[in-house]
Formats: sequence, structure tokens, C-alpha cells
Amino acid sequence: MKILIIGGGISGLTAAYWLHKNGLDVTVLEKDKRPGGSIRTEKEKGYLIEYGPNSTLDIYREVDDLCEELGILDNKIFADSTNRNRYVVREGRLRPLPTGPLQFLTTDLWSIKGKLRLLREPFIPKYSGASEESIAQFVVRRTGQEFLDYAIDPFVTGVFAGDPGRLSLKSCFPKMYALEQDYGGLVKGSIVGRKKGGEPKRKMRLFSFKDGLQTLPDMLSKVLGNHFIGGCDVISLRKGSGGFEVIMKRNGVEEIARANRVVLATPARFAANIIHPLSELIATHLMQIEYVPVVIVFTGFDRGHIKHKLDGFGFLIPSKESKQQGYSILGSIWSSAIFPGRASDGKVAFTNILGGARKTDILEYSDRELIDMSLRDLKTILNIGDKPDFVRIVRQPRAIPQYTLGHQVRIKSIEKGLQDIPGLYLAGNYINGVSVGHCIVEAMKLAIKIKDQASKIKITLGTLTKSV
Ligand SMILES: Cc1cc2nc3c(=O)[nH]c(=O)nc-3n(C[C@H](O)[C@H](O)[C@H](O)COP(=O)(O)OP(=O)(O)OC[C@H]3O[C@@H](n4cnc5c(N)ncnc54)[C@H](O)[C@@H]3O)c2cc1C
Repeated sequence: MKILIIGGGISGLTAAYWLHKNGLDVTVLEKDKRPGGSIRTEKEKGYLIEYGPNSTLDIYREVDDLCEELGILDNKIFADSTNRNRYVVREGRLRPLPTGPLQFLTTDLWSIKGKLRLLREPFIPKYSGASEESIAQFVVRRTGQEFLDYAIDPFVTGVFAGDPGRLSLKSCFPKMYALEQDYGGLVKGSIVGRKKGGEPKRKMRLFSFKDGLQTLPDMLSKVLGNHFIGGCDVISLRKGSGGFEVIMKRNGVEEIARANRVVLATPARFAANIIHPLSELIATHLMQIEYVPVVIVFTGFDRGHIKHKLDGFGFLIPSKESKQQGYSILGSIWSSAIFPGRASDGKVAFTNILGGARKTDILEYSDRELIDMSLRDLKTILNIGDKPDFVRIVRQPRAIPQYTLGHQVRIKSIEKGLQDIPGLYLAGNYINGVSVGHCIVEAMKLAIKIKDQASKIKITLGTLTKSV
């Protein structure tokens, strides 16, 4: 049986690796020459620049297993545990996000009124409305407007670069949703959940690799060998004898590849174009999944020119603060403070993020404008007046999928449509989690499903003394 996976980001590569490891004939067709999709690391002038994710949470055992099998577990590096502040800007000042219950009461990030409102959370009744709640509606109802403005809004910016007023709580933060559904509230749920035990909780640490996150897709494609083919722009898909025909362009020439199973592991819009000849309905649902653009302005400075201790992961700017103060950036990741090797000695590296749902026209700005916008904000917030000695601008037109209200209904409709096209599967960050870890776990689940279905077919055909 031949399986083709279209898209060599972390989702496609993980699924392919797992199927390959289990003895199935699988090939990845990737548009770029390079594997990794959103994950991309480059090194220049002593800086390590991440074009997409800088790190991901170390919470999945599956990710460890994968790294171990690939022989890269020892290359994993963890965020500096002594510099753990996550700053949020309020009235022009950086204020650390509280990390424990006591700090929730002593922080100057919220007013006394805001704190009193927070204390009422355990007494707020469970939601009984019929319509789906947005993140903003849920958070304001349970904890008040100030907690939304100065904790959850920047957090949502950090994960989705999105607007909490438009994103679905149930789809974006299913665990938070479940705390209310199962236990009646966030505080109650956290306490009862902790008492209940279950699998021991892993430390919430961020990790990357010595040479950046690109290590992971590089190693996956290395193991796949010539089962990873770069430079294949897949155009469409049609039914063929015993399966599918994949139409693609390679070196400007149209080619057809045949397979019994196909996994589309591209962003939703590309998957829509490819699937369109087979199902207009699925294509329409896929097209409805919104993405926001992100621009990264990576800057390198002399450490001596920065007065701040840089004792944390960086800062995020709440949208309320952005509107009031006219900031342009969403936040800044202090890359060289989190992991070693991100800047050479005596230098610091900041990954400044712009765009998202707050500024969807960000791609229209020139390099000069993007640099000026970033430096203006760094000057106001961090008091950096000097020019950077290194700048790299990365434009990501469809950076992060937005799980807006109705997301789960859309995904269910897509899944239902797929039942009419046996042998065709979808994978990717627009389905059930945007983080790198989520993508890996979901891709493994999909690979197991494909293998299970394949072995059932083998058994059925085996009784007819035939095999695929
Ligand atoms: C700027 C940014 C910052 C992020 N920060 C974090 C973070 O800090 N932590 C975290 O955990 N996650 C982060 N993420 C999210 C995470 O990186 C992504 O969700 C994840 O890498 C997506 O992987 P994927 O394989 O699903 O999709 P992609 O990486 O988008 O891969 C899809 C692949 O399909 C290919 N493709 C598209 N069309 C075709 C075609 N027609 N034919 C063949 N191939 C095609 C593309 O070239 C691409 O390689 C970030 C993402 C971005 C963009």
C-alpha cells in the first residue's frame, strides 16, 4: 500500500515518520525544498533566528519518545529556570505576570477592584446559555474585565496572535472549558483536579534544541531519506484506480503520483484547493478557517546598551494598552535570555512580533516601517535608544489559524465529508491545537488510525489471498 503525505511541516513529517517506522510505504511531497513548514531556524552573524516557533511546552511524553527515537533527546535545551518572568505592559511599565496564588493578590498588574472580582470566581455559576462562548465572554463572566485585559488577552496574543472576542473558548482552551463544565469553576476545578491525581503532571517548561527547533524536522526528514521529496507543489487530487492520483508540479513540469491513501497536511486554504475536485463542500468549510498574518522583526543589540535585567521570557502588550498608547508590536521574546546560543557573547536577541488579529494589514508595511515601529516600542518600553546591530524581517502571511466561534462545527462537518472519501485524511494545526507539541501528538494519532485501517484491509483481502 502506498501512502502520500502532502506537506512536510511538523504534522506531515511526524505522521510520515511514524508510518515509515511501522513498515508502511510512505512518501512526503513538500512544496519547499526544506522540511519543517512554519518551523525554520537560520544562523547568521552569531545570532540564531527562529522564523516561526521559538520554543514549545515540554508537556507531551510523545514528543520525548519521538526525540529519543530520533537520537536528539540530548540536544534538547530548557528555558533558563532562574529567568522565568513573563512581563505584561501596563501604563508603559513592564509588570511580571503572577506565578502563584499569593502573587495574584500582591501584583500591581491588577487594581484592588480587579483582585476582589477575581476572588468571586468560585461563586460564579456555571454557564447555562445555549450559544458558544468566546474566550472574552467566558473570562469576563468568571473573572472580570481586568483579568481579561491584563492576563488572558496578552496570553491569547502569545498563542494565537488572536482576538479573544472572536475565538472559541471550547476550541482554543478545552481544558479551561472543561474545568467549568466538570467542576463548576476554574479554582474549584484546579483544586479537585489536583486532588484526583491521575498521570503525574510534568513541569511546565519551554524547550527547544541547541541548534533551534529546525533540529526536529531536519532529523525527521533525514530518517525518511528519499521518502521526503522537496520542491513538489501539489495542485490537486482526483480518484484513480485503487486510490488517488496526486497532480503536482516539480521543476515546472506537471507530474502525477498514485497512492492508496493520501494525507493532506498543508494549511487549510491549500488543502481546500487540492481537495476541491473531490469535495466542494469540504473545500468550502476549509476556506472558512481564518488565519492571521504575523511579521517577526528579529533584532540583535549590544548587551551593554540594554539597562533592563532581561530576567524573563519577554513581554506581551495587552490590546487595551496598545490602543491607549499606540504600540505597534504585540510583544517581544527575549530569545537570548531564554536559551543559550541565540546570540554571541556580549549581544542580546529579541524576537519582536507584529500583526496578528490586531493588525491584519501588517504585510503591507515596508521593511523600514516595520523596523521603525519595532524600535519605537522597544525604546518606549525598554528604554533602548541605540540602533540594533542586526535585523531580520520575516513575513508569515498565514501564520496562525484562528479557532473562531463555530470551529468545532466546521471541523465536524469536514470529518463527516471525509467519510465519503475513504483513504483521504487531513492533518495540521488548524484542526485540534496549534502548538508544535499538539501537532506532533495529533499526527501520531492519525498515523495510528491509518495503520489500523490499513491492517484491517490487509486482513480482509488476506482471506481472498490477496494483499495491497
Ligand atoms: C510565527 C509563528 C510563531 C509560532 N510560535 C509558536 C511557539 O512559540 N510555540 C509553538 O508550539 N508553536 C508556535 N507556532 C505554531 C507552530 O509552529 C505551527 O502550528 C506548526 O509548526 C504547524 O505545523 P504544520 O505541519 O501543521 O503546518 P505547517 O508548518 O504550515 O506545514 C505545512 C506544510 O505544507 C506545505 N504545503 C503547502 N501547500 C503545499 C502544496 N500545495 N504542496 C506541497 N506542500 C504544500 C508547506 O510548504 C508547509 O511546509 C508558531 C507559528 C508561527 C507561524
